[in-house]
Amino acid sequence: MNGTVVSQQPDDLITGFRLRMYMIFGFVTVLFVLPFTVNHFLQGRITMALLTLSILIVSGANTLWILRHKRQLVPLVFFFPVMQATLIAGLFLQGVTIVFWFFPCALIILSIAERQHARIMIIISVALLIPAAFYALSMEFAVRFVVSYIMVAYLGDVIVRLLDSVQEQQARLATTDPLTGAYNRRHMMACVADAAEACRRGMGTASLIALDVDHFKSINDLLGHEAGDKALKGLVDTLLQRKRKLDEVFRTGGEEFVILTHDIEAGQATAFAESLRLHVEQANILDGQTMTVSIGVADYENNESIEAWIRRADVNLYQAKERGRNCVWPAPTFTYELKSIG
Ligand code: GH3
Ligand code: MG
Ligand code: MG
Repeated sequence: MNGTVVSQQPDDLITGFRLRMYMIFGFVTVLFVLPFTVNHFLQGRITMALLTLSILIVSGANTLWILRHKRQLVPLVFFFPVMQATLIAGLFLQGVTIVFWFFPCALIILSIAERQHARIMIIISVALLIPAAFYALSMEFAVRFVVSYIMVAYLGDVIVRLLDSVQEQQARLATTDPLTGAYNRRHMMACVADAAEACRRGMGTASLIALDVDHFKSINDLLGHEAGDKALKGLVDTLLQRKRKLDEVFRTGGEEFVILTHDIEAGQATAFAESLRLHVEQANILDGQTMTVSIGVADYENNESIEAWIRRADVNLYQAKERGRNCVWPAPTFTYELKSIG
């Protein structure tokens, strides 16, 4: 049983990155703000001392919580008002010396909050900062401060967006097959493990549909390797068009594919597979020549391991080949109805 495999989508990676940043931010804040808090107390600046102390407590607790539980204790939307109140109060109470703290706070917001939320927070911070800066600072200094703050916030947003897209691209490359765009075998193992776990917990059902192109070697020999590649892409496009919303299509080998279906009614997976088989046969993937597939189906059952589940689908695929190809095994006993498409 491989219970440790968990599918990593681009969104998961970015969320993980944001959480790491939140943890690092908390640690750095405690390290750098602590001496100033102590100094505020020593100098008798009680308001600033208490405000910065609250920041220290929240940041420190959050960092420890993330280290221990791998999730945040205080979401940034709640921490943001405390941060802003401290900065604005600081502007009034301490004037120019506080402006330097606005810049790291902007970077913290941009790198921790989800993109749209971060932008809203930055807009709010600019809206608060403009009147406060012009009230508390000289006109000359306030203009330069506001302009440079907006510039840093904008550049920070660009950099974080760039990092997000690099992470998304990396995740896509790690999970998809470059030729067909289907998910790869590695990603299949993670998704199948997730699906099996959900079944074990009684959260729905899942079936594997293993599919292999018939006589693909002769398609290559007859039409050339390039046409073979095109046919594989055409096959995946056909499967993607036909699959139900939550089903996933994986390329597990040269001309071998697996479709993971969720919550299909008992006995309906073979009927769904039969509809796929028929669709491929009629899809004119090979420009005038018929391309067919053999299919083996296995519903998840009896708390079996993912290896046993995949093996059963493969054995059934082998049976379909043995029974003359261009067929589904076990033979469908229902007709697949479009109304059951999710
Ligand atoms: P069967 O009906 O028993 O499945 O016969 P088959 O010819 O499809 O099976 P076999 O496993 O003998 O051949 C698979 C062929 O798929 C052999 C290999 O050259 C070809 N192939 C594997 N990967 C690719 C690929 O990425 N592109 C192309 N064009 N061909 C590929
Ligand atoms: Mg084949
Ligand atoms: Mg094969």
